[in-house]
Order: sequence, then C-alpha cells, then structure tokens
Amino acid sequence: MDEPTIEEWMDRHHVEVVRTHATNLDGLVVGKYLNRYKFLKSLPHGHSMADLGLAMDLTGMPHLTFWHDFRHAMIGDIQLRPDMDTIISDGTDPDLGHVICDFTGVDGSEIRLCPRTLLKDVTRQIADEGFSVKAAFELEFFLFKNSFDTARRREYRHLEPVGASTQQNIYFARNAYHAKPFMDEVIKRLNWQKFEWESWSDEGGVGQVELNFPPADPVRAADTISRMKQIIYEVAVDREMSVSFMAQIAPGYANGLHIHHSLQKADGSSAFLETGGRSPLFHHWIAGILASMPGATSILCPTINAYRRLKEFSAPPTAATWGEENKSAALRVITRSDSLARIEHRLASGDANPYLALAAVLAGGLAGWQQRLSPPDELNEMAWGLPEDHERLPNSIMRAADALDKDTLLASVLGKDVVDYWVNTRKLEWLSFHSDGADPESPEPTPWEYRRYFELM
Ligand code: GLU
Ligand code: MG
Repeated sequence: MDEPTIEEWMDRHHVEVVRTHATNLDGLVVGKYLNRYKFLKSLPHGHSMADLGLAMDLTGMPHLTFWHDFRHAMIGDIQLRPDMDTIISDGTDPDLGHVICDFTGVDGSEIRLCPRTLLKDVTRQIADEGFSVKAAFELEFFLFKNSFDTARRREYRHLEPVGASTQQNIYFARNAYHAKPFMDEVIKRLNWQKFEWESWSDEGGVGQVELNFPPADPVRAADTISRMKQIIYEVAVDREMSVSFMAQIAPGYANGLHIHHSLQKADGSSAFLETGGRSPLFHHWIAGILASMPGATSILCPTINAYRRLKEFSAPPTAATWGEENKSAALRVITRSDSLARIEHRLASGDANPYLALAAVLAGGLAGWQQRLSPPDELNEMAWGLPEDHERLPNSIMRAADALDKDTLLASVLGKDVVDYWVNTRKLEWLSFHSDGADPESPEPTPWEYRRYFELM
C-alpha cells in the first residue's frame, strides 16, 4: 500500500492514531501509539525502538549473556516495519488503527530472529518445495470475575471463575452462557477488525473458554492469535475481569494451544493424500515432526510453568506419538478425506509464541520431507501409560533446551543462530526461577510463576 492510498484509507476510516504491534520471542506484544503524521512519516521502514524490544526477557531485562548479529554493541535501535496488509481500524475506539509489524534493522534489513519473519521464511521454504500451508490454532484461556488488580492483590489465587458451577464440565451450555457477555464483546471487536472466527465453547476447566479460527496462511493464523490474546486481555480490563493464558493455572487446569496444519499441492488438493490413502510426503512429514519433537518441546512449552501441564492421562501428550483421530497422541492426524486432511499437533501450551510454535512444527515436517525420514508405527490405542521404556518428551525447561541444542532437524530449517539464541533464552528463564528463590519442588504453581506468567502470557 503506497502513501496516498494509506492517507485515503486513514481518512475514510477516521484513523488518527495507529498502534503498532510486534511479537517478541516470549510472545509479548510491543509497539507504540503513533500520531497519524508520525505514522505516515515513518513509512515504509516504520518507527524505531531500542533493540532490546527483541532482546529482553519477560520482565524487560536485556539479554546480557548471549548475543545475535542484529544487536548493537551498545543498546541501539531496530525498526518496527508495518505490514500494510494488516492495517485495520479498531472499530470500538473511534480514532484508532492497528498494524502488525516485523522487527527489522534500521536499514530495513530482515532479522531472522523476529518470530514473524522466521515463520514467513519457513513458509517460503515450504513453497520452494512446491507446497502451500494452511494453519489454525485453538485458543484456550481462563476467565475470572475478578479484576486484574484484585487478582494481583490475591496473588492470583482464590479467584472466582466465570461459569455455572464449581464442577469441571466441558461443552456445557450453562457455563458458556455465563461467559457469553464477555465473549459477545470479544466477538464484536474481532468482527470489527475483520478477524474470521469459527466457534467458541466452554472448555474443560472451571472458567475455561476455547475460541477457534478457520484455516489460514500461517502468518495470518499466528497474527490472529497474537491480536486475539491482546483483544481478549483488553475486554477483560474494560469489564474489570481477568483472563489468563498461562499453561498450568492450577493443579488440573491447563491451557493448550493446539495447532492444526495441512499442506496443499499447486492444484489445491491435499499433499497428505494420494489415490488410495496417505501420501509418501505425509509419512516423511510426520516423521520429521515426531523426530524433532523433543527439541521442539522447548519452543512449544516455553516456560517453567508449561511442564506442569505435561502429565499422563490429562489432555496433553507426553511422548512423540501419532494416530488417526487419536487425541491422546501428540499428533492427531485426520486423513479420511481431502477436504479434512490435516495434522493436529497437541503439545503447545497457552503460553507458546504462536509464530515460533508454528515455525517449529512446520520446520520439523519440512526437515522430515527433505531427509525422507520414516515415522514410528501409528498408535491406535491410548498414548498415555505407555511402557516405561517408551521414550517420553522432555519434562522440564532445561531438558527441553538440551534436546533442542542437540537437534539438527529444526536447526536445518530455522537456522542454528536462531536455535542457539532461543536455547539461551530458556536457560535464562530457568536461571531466573532458581535465582529468585522459587521452590523447584513445589507440586503447585509457585508465586513466582503466577507473578511472571498470569498477566503476561
Ligand atoms: N486444555 C487441554 C490442554 O491443556 C486441552 C483440552 C482439549 O481440547 O483436548 O492441552
Ligand atoms: Mg480444547
């Protein structure tokens, strides 16, 4: 979109202020509110921001002990380059517009460590093989009647979930009705902002809601989740309620971020199928996702808290398994028809960065295809309670970081520099937990986890 067009667009939509939106490694959204003239003046490269916007931990602490080429020797600037295909007017706030951005160098050069840029790059690598991708996330979160202020005062415990009872139910219409005024506002805002959605429903935890989206281009699918988490958060603030996407909010209550994806050939038909059944590509593709899953766990389950969720006989997988319509397996595959053919990856938790998580899943598939890997046997039984000697996924942030450090499949697609930087960020997360005196033996989420993750993830 060139400048005269954007000015016309801003006039027509009465946009006087543009809020920029970029997602950093931990999945936090950073940006600025820009006055109209400043936004226009900043095009096409976008406005600047200190490089620690992409090089800080969840509490804003700069990454000091590891490095990447995009950073300056001292703290310098990077840019937030707007993707003009994503500009929209807010709809609720009469003067506001939003635009999603990529982190770039001050000269506009690409930074592959930018999660959105990385996902674009992986999608491009798949396109080079002759395939296009469609992806969709399932967004889960907990909704409470208490404001964030109250939640903070109560140290995030003893909150009142929104729902019809204190019992765990699922798909329960009475629970959903309690969440409806909140969700009506969410849906209104996402309709205004032209985000497509499919359905929402009561999820298994008390006060838990799930929101689903139609399949889309990978970057669009991840953009939707990044914007949606912000919209849901803002509706909660406006209604003096609170929400959380943290992975394990209490014993027995977890947020997942299931990721569906499918591959299409140039003629639009599914690349996962051929006459008579599953294609060779499908087998190589899932083989790569499964072989790289121990390392990908670091990206899909990025926090200390996320590992509390990976329990046998609860919803998430604990081993790299796959099976047709098998929701206990890590990969639930659906191959019964061309229009439905897809893979549901069930490992990611609600605190995962949607861009990085999808990039990691696709990178595994692509590496499996490129190296013509073969998958383990399909599992047509319960994927929990497998024999003791069946290899399990890493069960801590450090073990997952070690697995990713050793992985070569993901690195071959994501780049070793990206993988190394990420591994260092996870070691820092582990170090912060331990050096802040949090109790590593605690059977329940620690106060440290609530303070760090409840409001920020
Ligand atoms: N909340 C579950 C999880 O943490 C997922 C429930 C489901 O949709 O199967 O993964
Ligand atoms: Mg669910």
